[in-house]
Amino acid sequence: MSLVKQIKDTFLQVFNSDPQIIAKSPGRINVIGEHTDYNNGFVLPAAIDKGVYIGLSAREDDQIELFSIDYNEKYTTDTTSLIFGKELWTNYILGVTRILSKQTDAIKGYNLVVVGDVPLGSGLSSSAALTCATSFSLGKLFNLNLSKLDIAKIGQQTEHEAVGVRCGIMDQFASVFGQDNSLIKLDCRSLEYEYIPIQLEGYEILLLNTNVKHSLASSAYNKRRESCEAAVALVKEKYDEVDSLRDVTLAQLDELVKPVNEEYYQKARFVIQENERLLKATEALKANNITTLGKLLYQAHWALSKEYEVSCEELDFLVDTVSTYPEVAGARMMGGGFGGCTINIVQKGKSKAVIEKLTDLYFNKFSLNLIPIEVSISNGTHEIY
Ligand code: ADP
Ligand code: MG
Repeated sequence: MSLVKQIKDTFLQVFNSDPQIIAKSPGRINVIGEHTDYNNGFVLPAAIDKGVYIGLSAREDDQIELFSIDYNEKYTTDTTSLIFGKELWTNYILGVTRILSKQTDAIKGYNLVVVGDVPLGSGLSSSAALTCATSFSLGKLFNLNLSKLDIAKIGQQTEHEAVGVRCGIMDQFASVFGQDNSLIKLDCRSLEYEYIPIQLEGYEILLLNTNVKHSLASSAYNKRRESCEAAVALVKEKYDEVDSLRDVTLAQLDELVKPVNEEYYQKARFVIQENERLLKATEALKANNITTLGKLLYQAHWALSKEYEVSCEELDFLVDTVSTYPEVAGARMMGGGFGGCTINIVQKGKSKAVIEKLTDLYFNKFSLNLIPIEVSISNGTHEIY
C-alpha cells in the first residue's frame, strides 16, 4: 500500500477524519563533501525518492495528537506545555512546533500522522526528512509563509535544540531544495547553490547499508565539530578575519595549529582537503570523467576513516573490497559516519553482480545482512495535496 494511502487510512482510524494536508520531504544522498557543512564549506547532495510523509489537520482546541505508523504509537500533548514523549520521534515534531510557536501565535492544536520509507540511521537523513516535512506542513496549515530556507533552518535548529546534534545545514537544505535528476552544489557559507544535472554516463549509484549504527555517533559528531572550532580559534588569534575553516589555509594550520594540537590539526586539515576534493569532483562530474570522480570518492573515504576518524570496520570493509572490483569506479562512506551506508559508483547494470559478490563476504565477516538501497534522485519537499 502506498504511504499516502497509509496516511489517509490511519488518519481516518485514529482521528475519524481526512487530513487537510499531506506533504512529503525526502531523504538525501551526498556524493562528496562530508563534515564540511558545519565548517562553512561545500557539499554535493541530492534529494531521493524515499521520504517522510505527514498528514495534518487543525483542531478546535489546543491539543496536539501525533501518531507514528512506523512506531505504531500515539502521543498527546498540548500547545502550551509541549512536553516531549519518551520516543525520539516526538522530539523532532514537537521541537519544530516549539520553534514555530516562539515565532508566531498562529500555531494551534493539530492532529498529525507520520510515516516514512527512509531507512533510519543509515546516512540518508531520515531525521531531516521528518523535521522538514513537519515544518512545511505546519507552515501550510497555519499559513506561516515559510520560505524554503526557513524550513531548512528550522529543521537544523530542531536537531540542535531538541535532539542535541549540532549538525550543519546540508541534510535539510537537500531535503527542501532537491530537484529531479540534479545534484545541489551548495556553498554552506553564502548558501548560494547550483543544480548540477547528474549524468554519470554508463554508471549508476548503488547504496549499501552496513546495517550498523554505533551509539557514539552523535557525541563523536559534536566532538569533531569542537575540534574544528578549536582549530579556527587558534588561527583567529593571529588572523582575526578568519571565522570558519572555510577561511583557513593549510599554511595557517601548519603555522598555528600543528605545533599546539595534533588532533585539531588533523581534523581541520581533513575539512580543507575535503572541500578541495569536492571542487575537483564537481569538475569531473561536469566533464563526465567518472574515473576521476571515483578516485576522489576513495580518497575521501580513507581520509574520513584515517584522519577524521568517523568510519567503522564495516564501512571500511565494504569500501576496501569494492576497490578491487573493476566495475566499481569509486566508493565511500556516506553521512555522519560510524555506520550507515556506502555510496558506490558502479558500471550500469553491474550493481546486482556487486551485491551478489559482497553479501556473503559481508555476512561471513560480521554476521550482518548487507542491505542494498535503491534510490533515484527526486524533487524536494512538496505538498501531495
Ligand atoms: P538519520 O541518519 O536517518 O537521520 P537519525 O538518528 O538522525 O538518523 O534520525 C533517525 C530518527 O528520526 C529516528 O530515531 C526517529 O526518531 C526519526 N524518524 C525518522 N524517520 C521517521 C519516521 N518515518 N517516523 C517517525 N520517526 C522517524
Ligand atoms: Mg539525522
